[in-house]
Amino acid sequence: MKTNYWIVENNVDSDKSCPQIVEASQFLKDDEVIAFPTETVYGLGANAKSDAAVDKIFSAKGRPSDNPLIVHISNKEQLAELVEEIPPAAETFMEKFWPGALTIIFKKKEGVLSERVTAGLDTVAIRMPDHQVALALIEAADLPIAAPSANVSGRPSPTTAQHVIKDLAGKISGVINGGETGVGVESTVVDCTSEVPVILRPGGVTKEQLEEVSGPVQVDPSLKKGEGAPKSPGMKYTHYAPDAPLVLLDGSVDWIQSLIDEKRQEGLKVGMLTTEENKDSFQAEHILFCGSRSDLGTVAHSLYDVLRSFNESDVDIIFSETFPQEGVGMAIMNRLQKAAGYQLLKEK
Ligand code: AMP
Ligand code: MG
Repeated sequence: MKTNYWIVENNVDSDKSCPQIVEASQFLKDDEVIAFPTETVYGLGANAKSDAAVDKIFSAKGRPSDNPLIVHISNKEQLAELVEEIPPAAETFMEKFWPGALTIIFKKKEGVLSERVTAGLDTVAIRMPDHQVALALIEAADLPIAAPSANVSGRPSPTTAQHVIKDLAGKISGVINGGETGVGVESTVVDCTSEVPVILRPGGVTKEQLEEVSGPVQVDPSLKKGEGAPKSPGMKYTHYAPDAPLVLLDGSVDWIQSLIDEKRQEGLKVGMLTTEENKDSFQAEHILFCGSRSDLGTVAHSLYDVLRSFNESDVDIIFSETFPQEGVGMAIMNRLQKAAGYQLLKEK
């Protein structure tokens, strides 16, 4: 399959009448799949009303069919067609965080969206992305757009068009290159169908931010240990993993270095995922740093790019620092724990 490629300049080519957007949106209207930038990660979009179109997302990604997709909209008026009701908490969250990195679970209206989007659930996940190109594309297509991250299932999500091309060239109808994404981790998924809102997946909007506008918010307990059945079907799958095994290390620089040394003595090549603050503190075969501990937003921004970069080296094992579970740190640790298959060692 030919994969078309469009380059857009954010904030310039951000209108639904821009030629690249018009061309790309025609593929969506024709039930084909297109990758596009959002403020979180690149999405792989298709007409959410069409079984044929949505099937193409699952087959291009190799995504398990029981993992439902997030539906992207460009204005709140589109909600009326898609959901049964808008609970007060959802109203508050939309007001404050849309457009933005927050996905809200609603009771769905039957018979509107492809059943494949919701994987047979009676709820639907909806988000309005905070990205001019994404909004213009959805508006031009004049459709609700189902869009998971534009990567092969299991791999780190794409934060550049190059990541998308590496994973999906030849398997999708096109990629819109709008440069690097900003937030770098996916949206927060919050279920607003229960009395108290529940975070099913931590992401770009933090628990603290949600609580500031709505009072207490719960976190799906299965997220903490990676055990039990998560309420969000997708959370049970291994995800974000680089090729070499990853182990998270919660301890001092000296202790981490002693573990690196042990592995090197066994003849293994060791990769170390560290931060600006510690980048000169370790000796290993391949040292990469993602952002600064003093601003966890910078860690989120470059996390997936760094995880992908380890695949360009020939390391046998990767060690990573851990992060405080506050603010966007909750999303960072969730992704790292999943990438590591929950292998975490603590210094005694
Ligand atoms: P992705 O598309 O890879 O960003 O993942 C979307 C996430 O939203 C996955 O964890 C899904 O399981 C979750 N999700 C989508 N729809 C629903 C829903 N109706 N109920 C609960 N979780 C959902
Ligand atoms: Mg994904």
